[in-house]
Amino acid sequence: SVAMLGALSGGGISLAVFLYRYGPRPFSEKVRQAIDDGRLTLVYQPLVRVHDRKMIGVEALARLTDEYGENISPDVFIKMAEDGGFIDRIARIVIKTALREMRSNLQGATNFHCGINLSTNDILDPALCDFLDQEVKSQGLDPRQIILEVTERSTADPDQLISSMETFRQRGYAFYLDDFGTGYSNLSHLAQLPISGIKLDRMFTQAIGKEAMGSTIAENVCSVAKALKLQLIVEGIETEEQAAYVDDLSPTAIGQGWLYGKPVPANKLQRHTPR
Ligand code: C2E
Ligand code: CA
Ligand code: CA
Repeated sequence: SVAMLGALSGGGISLAVFLYRYGPRPFSEKVRQAIDDGRLTLVYQPLVRVHDRKMIGVEALARLTDEYGENISPDVFIKMAEDGGFIDRIARIVIKTALREMRSNLQGATNFHCGINLSTNDILDPALCDFLDQEVKSQGLDPRQIILEVTERSTADPDQLISSMETFRQRGYAFYLDDFGTGYSNLSHLAQLPISGIKLDRMFTQAIGKEAMGSTIAENVCSVAKALKLQLIVEGIETEEQAAYVDDLSPTAIGQGWLYGKPVPANKLQRHTPR
């Protein structure tokens, strides 16, 4: 390695630069850099009415590649951005990109929606609500076509979260509660949340037809949705069997999953999913 260092200095690269490029940098720095370098992109996954498979919208999902073009999993970089305090940067890029890329799908199609994932910190930030509103207006879109997906995972003060959600709601945005059934789903709390729908986590969908528990939970979540007059969205539908089961459970259910379409870039998105 002495020879290597010699070669390096001979080649004109300083040790400092070498270490900066190839040395151990915190992974969160790589994530931050990737975002700064504009390597955050979006893919879109169709949301369909399970009963007739009509596409009623999409969910925008973030993708990030490192400097070598390798994908960094969203579960990893989202967590890192939340912990590192730069999730707002992602939220802003996602909002801007999704509205621009989905504009032609949204304009004049009042039944078509675009789902955007937000972290609790984003919802608690009044500046983000203003940013979203500005972007929606500048693209000539209707807030009622934007659905904000939130999870319950957070430790935020529920009252504060609810009042922040109300601010978005007053401006016409709707919320879906994401990953429902995981984490601590407090039912009394659920009735208070200003949401329009619940998304059953794919972990339960995947258990349909395999484990009795999966179907029981799906049935119970469906009853809860009905009782609270919430739209039911079922994630992770991969098989015809799961689709048939969900259709039996609720004729108004919305489905999302590989059966209907994997997440794809905007230019690969088809308006109607063939049967
Ligand atoms: P999520 O919001 O629950 O998104 C749905 C995840 O399920 C996506 O994973 C999607 O690719 C995957 N999926 C969809 N259909 C199927 C299926 O039929 N089978 C299986 N096995 N999986 C399916 P993805 O894209 O890896 O995203 C992971 C998570 O990262 C998301 O989960 C969401 O929590 C988070 N995320 C993604 N984009 C954003 C973003 O822009 N902002 C924030 N805050 N979080 C995001
Ligand atoms: Ca989601
Ligand atoms: Ca989910």
